[in-house]
Amino acid sequence: MDGRRPKILIIYTGGTIGMIENPHSRVLQPFDFTHLIDNVPKVRKLDYDISNIQFDPPIDSANMSPSHWSDIASDIEAHYDDFDGFVVLHGTDTMAFTASALSFMLENLHKPVIITGSQLPIGEVRTDGEENLITALQVAAACDKDGGPMVREVAILFENYLWRGNRSTKMSADNFNAFKSNNYPALAKIGLGINFNNDALYRVLSRRPLKVRYTMDTNVMFIDLYPGMQESTLRYLLGTPGIKGIVLRTFGAGNGPDYAWFINAISEAVERGIVILNVTQCVNGGVHTTLYNTGNRLAQAGVISGHDITSEAAITKMMYLFGMGLPPENVKKYLNYSLCGEVTL
Ligand code: ASP
Repeated sequence: MDGRRPKILIIYTGGTIGMIENPHSRVLQPFDFTHLIDNVPKVRKLDYDISNIQFDPPIDSANMSPSHWSDIASDIEAHYDDFDGFVVLHGTDTMAFTASALSFMLENLHKPVIITGSQLPIGEVRTDGEENLITALQVAAACDKDGGPMVREVAILFENYLWRGNRSTKMSADNFNAFKSNNYPALAKIGLGINFNNDALYRVLSRRPLKVRYTMDTNVMFIDLYPGMQESTLRYLLGTPGIKGIVLRTFGAGNGPDYAWFINAISEAVERGIVILNVTQCVNGGVHTTLYNTGNRLAQAGVISGHDITSEAAITKMMYLFGMGLPPENVKKYLNYSLCGEVTL
């Protein structure tokens, strides 16, 4: 950064961090960005050159959709060369989906995209939003020993940790430490200082320019297994018109029932060209289909292993791969690659 002030762009999408209580209904509603910065005068003490863009209107992240991801990605693309880093303020509910989606959409990313939000609105006395915002700005401005960006990926900053975006999951509706990446170490631990874990940070060797993939194909879905699922229910879901990809959320190390009707329904869907990815319902660990017959039968039926990928990364990776217009065979091939650090192979 050659001694100049870091230039950071804040993209405010909404979420609790910027909400205020409606005096009549007492429910929290998104408010505008001026209010947000007014409540964190400390931001002005950072010697950074900060600009901002906001969603109009700001939204509760329960309303987030791929078109909003495109809006964020296009803001980043439009201002990529003008800023050292980007901070995205976002609701916590779907933050892990947005972080995962952006990690795929922003190909060849070499700058920090730090997503944060809070559990309590920034105007509340005990808010976690103030610290999260300030730390996110500091992480976005951090440099490595060669003066390049310390973080060159999409990451979630929340309370005491910086997590890889496409490895993160919202773990708590109440705790300030609301996020975790259960199968990957923290990129940084936030305490008295910001201690980066250099070995965990993502580094791409190529210096190719940023390429944004805007098309996300939403003909994908989750099917969550549970004891007692009926054949008619499974077949109905597998027969969803237009569906191209399914993230099958299985038990334990990637197991599902090995009843004939179940395996037949799954094999028939695979034969129709539907890509089915096996992802565990467990928050920690991954799919090991050779461990049990029940998992093995799924693999034999043509279901591919999601290894230790999160559900959020799995579904958004499918949207991205189908969005590129790839045929099922190629989608399967890339589901078996780590594109940007989302899976351990
Ligand atoms: N419903 C809010 C949202 O995701 C929750 C939050 O921000 O914590 O936008």
